[in-house]
Amino acid sequence: MKMLLVFAHPEHQSFNGAMFQTAVDTLTAAGHEVATSDLYSMQFDPVSGRHNFLTLKNPDYFKQQLEEMHATETFGFAEDIEREMKKLEWCDLMIWQFPLWWFALPGILKGWVDRVFAMGRTYGGDRLYANGVFTGRRAMLSLTTGGPQQAYGKGGFNGDIHAILRPIHRGILQFVGFDVLQPHIVYGPVRLDQEQRTVLLAAYGSRLKHIGDERPFDVGIY
Ligand SMILES: Cc1cc2nc3c(=O)[nH]c(=O)nc-3n(C[C@H](O)[C@H](O)[C@H](O)COP(=O)(O)OP(=O)(O)OC[C@H]3O[C@@H](n4cnc5c(N)ncnc54)[C@H](O)[C@@H]3O)c2cc1C
Repeated sequence: MKMLLVFAHPEHQSFNGAMFQTAVDTLTAAGHEVATSDLYSMQFDPVSGRHNFLTLKNPDYFKQQLEEMHATETFGFAEDIEREMKKLEWCDLMIWQFPLWWFALPGILKGWVDRVFAMGRTYGGDRLYANGVFTGRRAMLSLTTGGPQQAYGKGGFNGDIHAILRPIHRGILQFVGFDVLQPHIVYGPVRLDQEQRTVLLAAYGSRLKHIGDERPFDVGIY
């Protein structure tokens, strides 16, 4: 299978860095084709604007989605965006590796979505959800938290992690047609000892060996 790994952490020696490397190594060893977008190393610009496009249909009044539709028709996306779009369109399964920041994606990854998931090219018209451009492809969130697992259960002081992740699962990934796999969550790696973290990394590797066989899960209605 063709695997795209998107990595959004500023430090390669972090636990997220170890999870990303585990995914690269495990999926490559399993015979998959692996492409990566290591957003900090690439110095990916997450700020969306006029520079998303080679030329503008209406330079006097910038409206992003209209320019996205125009760029879709004229092959007019800026090179950094076009490169990421091609990876997105290439993959069968995409994994995002990130730390939970403010109950959300780190800005660099959110900005990647803002710029790369463009109207006309990745969604639009009736090409949404079950009819989406990426129908038949799968995606998984792989993330870490600062808080412990009990804080993210139903009734926990942060609330249910599945409710927190739902805007990403439903509003981004399913919106453009991806089927979503159960997220892989490591709660509070900084609270664990080295041995516990090693065990969790090995468990992640074991899951990834068979990730191609996993079925989507129901992201739920809240
Ligand atoms: C802006 C911001 C917002 C945040 N918002 C939230 C929030 O909303 N909710 C929340 O819960 N948390 C939040 N946090 C905390 C954040 O989610 C955690 O700090 C992060 O998820 C921990 O992951 P890490 O990779 O950075 O861990 P690290 O601190 O890098 O790693 C933990 C430990 O693992 C060790 N390690 C690295 N590699 C390996 C390896 N190969 N084997 C074993 N051990 C290894 C590291 O040395 C370190 O000791 C926020 C943090 C920031 C900066």
